[in-house]
Amino acid sequence: MADKLTRTERSLVMAAVRGRGNRSTELRLRDLFRKLRITGWRRGYPLPGHPDFVFPKLRMVVFVDGCFWHGCPKHGRRPKSRCEYWNAKIDTNISRDRSVTSRLRLKGWRVIRIWEHELRPTAELRLSRRLLRIDWLRGE
Ligand SMILES: [Zn+2]
Repeated sequence: MADKLTRTERSLVMAAVRGRGNRSTELRLRDLFRKLRITGWRRGYPLPGHPDFVFPKLRMVVFVDGCFWHGCPKHGRRPKSRCEYWNAKIDTNISRDRSVTSRLRLKGWRVIRIWEHELRPTAELRLSRRLLRIDWLRGE
């Protein structure tokens, strides 16, 4: 890979790297689960695509998708330079996400995907409502 990044590209990459392991977004979601008293989740549960949170009793999985790497339609903006490289990378991720989702659904798992942007503090109320609409307690 070339080593020269434009300023825009660099900031995109830095933002993406921060979002990549999704550590901070995962922690934010975990905190929100606690706040909303949503329990029964596991981390590191062995399933295709390595879901961020798995609710085994509910047969439900939750992924937190970084806006950049997973091609968020709202603001997963793509770098203007080396488009081919980035487009290929992001498109591969999007199709992998789709196939993971359908594989899990075929196995009888409910799949919930949450965008990184839904975990912004300003969006917390909306996400809380979305989470609370899910019937978490069934099967508990
Ligand atoms: Zn987004």
